[in-house]
Amino acid sequence: MSEAQKEYRKNIHLTFPPEVSKDPVVCNLTRLFDLTFNILKAQITPRKEGYLTLELVGSQDNCKKAIDYLKEHDIAVSPVDQRISRDEVSCMHCGMCTAICPVDALRMNWQERNVTFDTDRCTACGLCTKVCPVRAMHVEVENGPW
Ligand code: SF4
Ligand code: SF4
Repeated sequence: MSEAQKEYRKNIHLTFPPEVSKDPVVCNLTRLFDLTFNILKAQITPRKEGYLTLELVGSQDNCKKAIDYLKEHDIAVSPVDQRISRDEVSCMHCGMCTAICPVDALRMNWQERNVTFDTDRCTACGLCTKVCPVRAMHVEVENGPW
């Protein structure tokens, strides 16, 4: 199994009270919990409530500790629903995504010479979006509470 497959990914919404929005709590996630993060959406205004949608990447245990840390700093944390869709026009059925999908939601159909996408099996981990050469796999993030 590749290193990428060992990574745990978790998308969360954060709501910051005004007194916390200037503190580097999110940056501390890297230092304290050995996580990386991608900002999917942000709405930060000085002295006002702030909102962030983040993708946390690291070990599952450290992601859980990081969420506890955020909550201890009065940041409201809620999970994000996301789903993956495939652009059927762009997909050229090269099969690269089938090698990385951990749950076999993407499979090569050798008879038809195409790649099938079983959305019921897909756990929306997002790994296929990183390897697709034509960016046919898309993450659709629900807007959440803001
Ligand atoms: S990697 Fe992209 S282009 Fe190739 S089969 Fe998968 S979705 Fe289609
Ligand atoms: S997002 Fe779905 S289809 Fe893509 S690698 Fe993850 S489980 Fe497989």
